[in-house]
Amino acid sequence: MALITCPECGKEISDRSACCVHCGYPLPPKPPEPNRFSVVLTSPPHYPENRKRMALALVKELDLSEKDAMDLMDSAEQKPVVLRSEMTVESARAFANTLQRAGAYVKVVDGSSPDSPEASMSSSALAKERHGLGFCGTVVAVVVGVLAAHLIMALLGGLF
Ligand SMILES: [Zn+2]
Repeated sequence: MALITCPECGKEISDRSACCVHCGYPLPPKPPEPNRFSVVLTSPPHYPENRKRMALALVKELDLSEKDAMDLMDSAEQKPVVLRSEMTVESARAFANTLQRAGAYVKVVDGSSPDSPEASMSSSALAKERHGLGFCGTVVAVVVGVLAAHLIMALLGGLF
């Protein structure tokens, strides 16, 4: 974690926060890592000829031996297997398409949120953003409220 200077109030804040903790200024989101996508094999093909095609695709794409490729597909029968990670979304999609054509069920996973499939990526990112802004707004509202209360107290104290 690094400290940066808030462009609005000039105080030091974490570069990972969504907004300034001092003034609530919303910070621009950091550009996401491009190589954060993984291809996960959720279900290997069942027909022998499809398994053969899938194995050949894995041999070609992942530089495996044919036996390792078969073992990989066997273990994917039990639970999903990450075939390759740290890919760009384009290469992950291309890889997934190759395997889908061979009859496998694969999904492209956004590494920044490991459990969500790509389909829900944009909506969860939006939800996070909304939550972040809401939180900043609440903090600012509380700070303003406390300041106002102090001001009123001070005024009342001065009057009496
Ligand atoms: Zn600030």
